[in-house]
Amino acid sequence: MSVDEHTPVLRSCIKLPLKKDELIEVIAKAKDYAIMHGAAMRSKTSFSPDSLNFAPFVLVPSSFPRKEFEKAIALQPIINRLMHNVAHDEEFITTTLAETIKVDEFTANLFNIYRKVLALGFTQAYSVGLLRSDYLAHVYEGCAIKQVEINTIASSFGGIATHLVPLQNFVLRELGHAEKLKQMPKNEALAGLCDGMVKAWNIYAKPKSVILFIIEDISYNICDQRFHEFYIRETYPHIKVLRRTLTEVHKEGKLGQNKELLLGNTEVAVIYFRAGYEPGHYPTQGEWDARYLMETSLAIKCPSIQYHLAGTKKVQQALAQPAVLERFINDPEEMKAVGKIFTGLYSMDDNEVGNANYEMAMRTPEKFVLKPQREGGGNNVYGLDIPDALKRMSRVERSAWILMDLIHPPLSQGYMIRPGSDVPPQIVDMVSELGIFGVIIGDADHIIHNYQAGHMLRTKLSTANEGGVAAGLGALDSPYLI
Ligand code: ADP
Ligand code: MG
Ligand code: MG
Repeated sequence: MSVDEHTPVLRSCIKLPLKKDELIEVIAKAKDYAIMHGAAMRSKTSFSPDSLNFAPFVLVPSSFPRKEFEKAIALQPIINRLMHNVAHDEEFITTTLAETIKVDEFTANLFNIYRKVLALGFTQAYSVGLLRSDYLAHVYEGCAIKQVEINTIASSFGGIATHLVPLQNFVLRELGHAEKLKQMPKNEALAGLCDGMVKAWNIYAKPKSVILFIIEDISYNICDQRFHEFYIRETYPHIKVLRRTLTEVHKEGKLGQNKELLLGNTEVAVIYFRAGYEPGHYPTQGEWDARYLMETSLAIKCPSIQYHLAGTKKVQQALAQPAVLERFINDPEEMKAVGKIFTGLYSMDDNEVGNANYEMAMRTPEKFVLKPQREGGGNNVYGLDIPDALKRMSRVERSAWILMDLIHPPLSQGYMIRPGSDVPPQIVDMVSELGIFGVIIGDADHIIHNYQAGHMLRTKLSTANEGGVAAGLGALDSPYLI
């Protein structure tokens, strides 16, 4: 991450540093609070299905500009609708991904399913989108938020983020700063997201049908997923939740007479994908067959294949062009507001425009990040690493990638608490990425539910390019609005 001595530092919510004894004591309490309230994960280094580690977290909430937070919240229903319209525009998705799928096998496989489903006609007209739009504040534009990406599949951390507010509330109270709590916005992400699944279940309208979570072979982020499951089971006890891998669906799944998805004799109303977004989730053709089976079924998918494709980086890049955005947003004010959150995004397709962008990236790589069509973090190429990466690709291969302006977020300072790390910790420079959740349900012609559903904040060391929480450099956090 390019941070220099001119990068502004946001004021911390409490005076730092804390006294050593006070710090040691509050960290010990906070760690236990985190484990006992499910701000936790399975360990990657010493995995056991019988134990949990606390999830990395920031001790006290990191500052975030209030105006920008409120802007992101207000924009979410507009962004939901935008994504819904994009997902239902066959011509746009097809032309936008045309070059990419020539070289990116994973996206091509997804697109293939889309093409086959289109040819058959959609069995289920409704989709449910549980989206997360991610932002960094950009210091060169007065800390205005810029969209990093939008996730349309496996938008995670709604569960843990909801429980992080009480954790940081607890810490602030312990430290004698109860008055600060009012600057932490309440977060109802978990309820908002789960209610979305339940609304879809109601649309399906079969009392015995279940909600199916598609999961990885090993779920490290188990608490986040279980919170969704337990919320549904506790709030709507008549709705059952099942968890299956793609491999298991391949073995057990079949279509009934009306194309209902059946696992044994159990009918599935809603499929919630927490896996299926990266090539490793499809080790054999069997997993692809399972995905296809689900797509052709009557179950309501979260996301359906067209929503999944609408969330690709390539589509994001195409949308950032004003002429394209116009196609999906009618209201000029909304169009202007959404246009402002986009930063420069550039095609790397093998044509005149793509080649000019290639030259620009080679000349001034420090301004950019290069992204492939992947999710889950750890796939991008940053700044001065870009020329080498590009030189290793043929012109055609570049079409699998997009180029994006680097966003320069302000710094904050605080204590990042990770399992196994030193106590007392050092004060570190950090940057925060805000995610806003949205729920949208509808078919090609109607939107029946559209709302903003809470938020999450992920904070990473300012020296790290990426802040994946499970990957190791990021920590869970929540905003302190200033
Ligand atoms: P993924 O779908 O894998 O999460 P992202 O586009 O979110 O991909 O990129 C991963 C991370 O890389 C982000 O969380 C952010 O920390 C960093 N990043 C991505 N794009 C930018 C950008 N334009 N400027 C600065 N950092 C970025
Ligand atoms: Mg993503
Ligand atoms: Mg991301």
